[in-house]
Amino acid sequence: MLKITPYLGGLVLIVSIGGLWYPVLGYFMLLIFAAIFLISPFRGRWFCGNLCPRGSLVDFWISKISKKKKIPVTLRSLWVRLPIFFLLMGFMGYRIAGIIGSLNTFEKIGMVFVTMCLVTTAIAVLLGSYLSPRAWCSFCPMGTAQRLLGGKRYPLKFTKEKCINCNKCDKICPMQLKIRESETKPDCIKCGRCVAVCPKDALQF
Ligand code: SF4
Ligand code: SF4
Ligand code: SF4
Repeated sequence: MLKITPYLGGLVLIVSIGGLWYPVLGYFMLLIFAAIFLISPFRGRWFCGNLCPRGSLVDFWISKISKKKKIPVTLRSLWVRLPIFFLLMGFMGYRIAGIIGSLNTFEKIGMVFVTMCLVTTAIAVLLGSYLSPRAWCSFCPMGTAQRLLGGKRYPLKFTKEKCINCNKCDKICPMQLKIRESETKPDCIKCGRCVAVCPKDALQF
């Protein structure tokens, strides 16, 4: 995690709420899309654990009021995630296509981004409060895209011989991954919490 990671959450509130008055703020989402598509082919879901404003919001703000329950396994399934990805992307494309050529196209497209940001943030906050902070991140379309683009990149390495099975890593993982159970963890968001908490240096990037 970067030093600025805990402070990025405010950006998502500025875009989601401020954007209702200043739709141009919605274009901030394009920066997010660009960062995701530039980073994920090399570092998988690193963006999610280090730079995503919504990830920061749920990790550092919503986690304080979260019930911290188990995230249902179904939500992680690509059978659920891919339809959600295509539905949301298709809906956004459909709305933008309907706007092009009309008056104030620039502001209206900005408002499409703002409403997408607001709706998905509201879902993330609700799920984060009642389930687990990173529940939304288990099936967020942008997380799914990063997994597909670079799920095998920058993997977390586990040295079994050093492990004393203290379970501290599994307990701290915001994505609720079974860190020692499988070789590949395409949904690891590279936050580094497990590495930092391991008393035996059994985990490394
Ligand atoms: S899964 Fe989506 S909301 Fe969560 S950190 Fe990644 S991009 Fe952000
Ligand atoms: S496995 Fe480690 S680095 Fe990956 S999400 Fe979990 S705690 Fe973060
Ligand atoms: S924190 Fe380290 S020593 Fe403890 S269970 Fe995880 S890998 Fe093993």
